[in-house]
Amino acid sequence: MKLTFLGTGAADWDINAYTPEAEFRRFSSALVNDDLLIDPGPHILHFAKCAGKLDIFDNVRNVIVTHTHQDHFCPQITQLLCSGGRAKLWGDEACMRALRDALGDDAAAKIDFEAIPVSQDPYCIGKYQIWSLFSNHEGNYWDEITRLYVIEGVDPAPELPGGALPVADSRMLFYGCDSAWLPTRSWNVIKNMPIDAMVMELTCGETAPNDWRIFEHNTLEMLKLMLETFRKYNYFTPEVKFYTSHMARTLHTSHAQLEETLRPLGVTPAFDGMVIDI
Ligand SMILES: [Zn+2]
Ligand SMILES: [Zn+2]
Repeated sequence: MKLTFLGTGAADWDINAYTPEAEFRRFSSALVNDDLLIDPGPHILHFAKCAGKLDIFDNVRNVIVTHTHQDHFCPQITQLLCSGGRAKLWGDEACMRALRDALGDDAAAKIDFEAIPVSQDPYCIGKYQIWSLFSNHEGNYWDEITRLYVIEGVDPAPELPGGALPVADSRMLFYGCDSAWLPTRSWNVIKNMPIDAMVMELTCGETAPNDWRIFEHNTLEMLKLMLETFRKYNYFTPEVKFYTSHMARTLHTSHAQLEETLRPLGVTPAFDGMVIDI
């Protein structure tokens, strides 16, 4: 399973300030293989254009949404991707409210949408098994249930010489932007999963310890505590890899400094355009 980070920033990055020379993060979004999009945010087409990959979304068949904050969910981009039977949108009912509010009832009705509840059981979406779990965050609507996702994909079995039976390789990804900590009900589901890669949010960096956002986002201190606990009890797989995304422009220093800071923790900060094999 392949994950491409289309954006790795929090909501305080200004796309109008983008220059190719300077360090920049777009709003957080990621593409699983070439067919499953996590968060149809407003900057994903900017990524495609700058990366010279205008066809990057051609094979997207399913789109899942963490929550309706404007840095994660853009009604116009969603309309582009999910109208006319191209791709299907999955998430909280709040997605449809946001679409109706922005596009009007008629345009919103043309979007192929299915509400999925949070559940300890997975949904089959395309070729993936997807667990939609509670995050500790608040979306644009009081009754919106914001989400974390665990995505299980099965890579095609390789051809083996001599007619040996191939074994399909199942891989698991956790994607947690945005959330402060992991809510108990979600933790109780994921703690027993053989997760191969964890993408944790790190809105608050070196310059923002004890930030007021701790009730909806992670700080470095929170990340450290969670990692120590994961490792103390050997959660997930022995080779599980940790990444961060959703870094705020005003609460971090540079990407190079963040790499330095996270290296002793065994964590890799993601950058826009980074591709990982899971
Ligand atoms: Zn966000
Ligand atoms: Zn948010």
